[in-house]
This record gives sequence, structure tokens and C-alpha cells, in this order.
Amino acid sequence: MKYYSTNRRAPLSTLREAVLKGLAGDNGLYMPERIPQLGSDFFATLRRRTFREISLEVATALFGDDIAAAPLRSIVYDALGFDVPLVKMTGRIYSLELFHGPTMAFKDVGARFLARMMQYFTRNENAATNVLVATSGDTGSAVANGFLGVEGVTVTVLYPKGLVSKIQESQFTTLGQNVRALEVEGVFDDCQRLVKQAFLDKELNARRRLTSANSINLARFIPQAFYYFWGWAQMPQGSEVIVSVPSGNFGNLTAGLLAQRMGLPVKHFIAANNANDIFLQYLQTAKFSPRPSVATIANAMDVGNPSNFARIMDLYGNDYAKAAAAISGYSYSDAQIREVVKRVFAETRYLLDPHGACACEALREYLQNDKEAKGFFLATAHPAKFKETVDDILGTDITVPEKLSAFMRGKKQTTVISNRYEDFKAFLLNS
Ligand SMILES: *Cc1c(COP(=O)(O)O)cnc(C)c1O
Repeated sequence: MKYYSTNRRAPLSTLREAVLKGLAGDNGLYMPERIPQLGSDFFATLRRRTFREISLEVATALFGDDIAAAPLRSIVYDALGFDVPLVKMTGRIYSLELFHGPTMAFKDVGARFLARMMQYFTRNENAATNVLVATSGDTGSAVANGFLGVEGVTVTVLYPKGLVSKIQESQFTTLGQNVRALEVEGVFDDCQRLVKQAFLDKELNARRRLTSANSINLARFIPQAFYYFWGWAQMPQGSEVIVSVPSGNFGNLTAGLLAQRMGLPVKHFIAANNANDIFLQYLQTAKFSPRPSVATIANAMDVGNPSNFARIMDLYGNDYAKAAAAISGYSYSDAQIREVVKRVFAETRYLLDPHGACACEALREYLQNDKEAKGFFLATAHPAKFKETVDDILGTDITVPEKLSAFMRGKKQTTVISNRYEDFKAFLLNS
């Protein structure tokens, strides 16, 4: 399988090139040249199979030409080493809980898969691969934990000193092993600038093998398709299925659309946004107008220029009408999100996090006009990751799972550096 760039001004790439480069040479996003179809045999047996079995079958359809069966099986089974239960909330609404992995957020799926695929493609090289990540909080923890203990790869996380919450910071500063954290005396933009400059530095790149693990990498986006098949298979038989996705950069939703294109009979998709409603505006006006993001209580979706928009449009041949027919948009203010968390807890005792709350409410609204269908939404983070917000809304003191509190007890190990590029470069060359 070859991969093309959504900008179509870069040559076709192999899977290996696409995974190690991340972004295509023309700054476009990689897409598979051909979308494989899964046949009726596959769907007929779906309900009897485990999440990992289903995922391996989907992965084989996509990556089977490029990675042999045994290593592909290890990548899939190792990456998906946690449960993804579908929980019934009401008669027609189900929650697909994607937050049972190491950092208790759905980004664990993509980050763990990418880490293992990168390791596979660099397995014969002597020099270690250096993954550089700049983070304002959440990406750093998913990537660091995704790569933790993966041989042949070192992860360097750069974050702004004093500007990341304690729980987030603990998730990438206490790991040790092949993960190291740099506290940069500056802001997030400084961290990002340092990483970008390192990738452009010819001398440094001749001496160190550098790569990124950012969210546009196709090996982070594609594995997210697996759990749509699994979620669908757990739904009551014979029902039409709607899927609602809390969206920021839209990688997660794009993976769902890919699953549908591979044959998964999802009837309709919903993109649920917080106040950053750029995509909803697009659906309403046919104009894509990125704008600076605003801060909300569902902060992992505070995105003003969704990076996977190009992939979505590519899937629909850049045809507005087709995209708008396949996807509905909803947007919720902080006040509305709070109201939803409160109402759902009062009515069902189900604890929503602010991101899942947007998707849950969008699904409820949509189903009011489609009385036959049922649906599931993606619960992308454990509510305890947003404990302060959730406690404040509900007046509770919710329990922090052992997995999260264990991070907090770990010993912080970081190196403080200035925001000057020379210092960062020296660190990379001398360590
Ligand atoms: C990153 C994130 C999202 C948004 O996912 P995208 O793929 O960027 O649309 C939603 N919820 C949580 C908890 C996240 O961390």
C-alpha cells in the first residue's frame, strides 16, 4: 500500500516513510491510496470476536502488505492491552469507554500503536530514534507513556515550566527509562519552536535520528478506526447505529469515517464540539474559517484550526454536500456542558467527563429526530482526569483511580533548560 499527501504535490510514500516522516513533504497529510473493503464474512463473525481479534483483522487489511503477520499481530496486541467496554446508559444511548489505558484517555490507543510501529520500522538501525514532543499537557503524557519501555527509541518531552497541571506533569516527568522531560523556561510556543528548529537543523539531523509523534501521523490516526468496529459489534443486533465523537483536531472522527468507508454500517456520524465550533460553522456555511481557540472546560478540544479537516475533505472528494450529508455538528458552551454532566449523573448515575458530555448530549439531541436508531458516543477521558471540574459541577469528591494517583506519587525527574535553541541542541548532542 502506498500513501499520498492530501496536498497532492508530494510523491507517493511507503508506509515506513509516512510513519517516520509524519507530515508529507508538501505539508499535506498522508492518506492510504486505496481503502480496503471488509467483506460480509468479516461482519458476520464480528460479534463473536474479541477487540484485539477485530483490530488485527482491520490492521491486516490496511497494513498487511507492508508488515508480516507475526510482527503486525505483536504491534496490535501489545498496543491494545486494555479493555474498551461499551456501557449502556439509557435505552438508546451507549458509552464506548476508551479511557482504561495507561493515561486514561483515548490517545493511548494511537500513541501506543505508533510507538510500536515506529520501533518495527527502525528495528535494524544502530542509532536510537529520538522522538521530540512539545506539549502543553495531554499529548506529552500519551506519547511518553506510549513509548515507555519501547526499545531503540528515546522520547524527549518539552514543556513550559510551571504552566502544566501537576497531574499532567507527573504523567511524563516520573516515568524514567527511555523518557526524559525538559522544563523549558518559556511558554508552550517556545517548546514548539525549539522542536521545529531541531527538525530543520541539518547538522543535528546528520548526527541524531530525530522524529515527531504528533497527532497527524497516520499511525496515530488509523488505529483509532479499530474501536468503531468493536463498538458497533457490541450494540444490540439489528439496530441502526449513530456514532457521536467529541472532537478537537478531528483525528478520532476521521478514523470513524475511514471505518465506515471500509464497510462498517454506521448510519450517521456526529461531530460534537465545545465552544470552538469551527467545524459546525463549516457545516452550516460551507466555509472553513479557522480562528484562534478559546479556553473551555473540555480543554483537549480547544482547537481553532482542526488539523485533520484536510483528511475529512479528502475522504469526501472535497465535496461540501457529501461531507455535510454524512456528518452532523453540535456545539456546547461551558454552561451547557456543566448542565449535561449534572443532569446525566442525576438521571443515570453515569459520570461524564466534559469531553464525553459534549458527545453524549449531541447524540441525545440527534436521536430525538431519529426514533428508530440507537447510538454510542466515545468517552475519551476518565472523569477523574478532570476531577476539579467534575467535583465542582457535582459537589462530589470523586475517587482518583490508582493508575492516576500512582503517577502523582512518582519522583519527578526533569532537566531545566532556557528557551534558547543552542541550549536545546547541546542537550540533544551531549546526552
Ligand atoms: C484529544 C482529545 C479529544 C479530541 O480528539 P481529536 O482526535 O483531536 O478530535 C477529545 N477528548 C479528549 C479527552 C482528548 O484528549
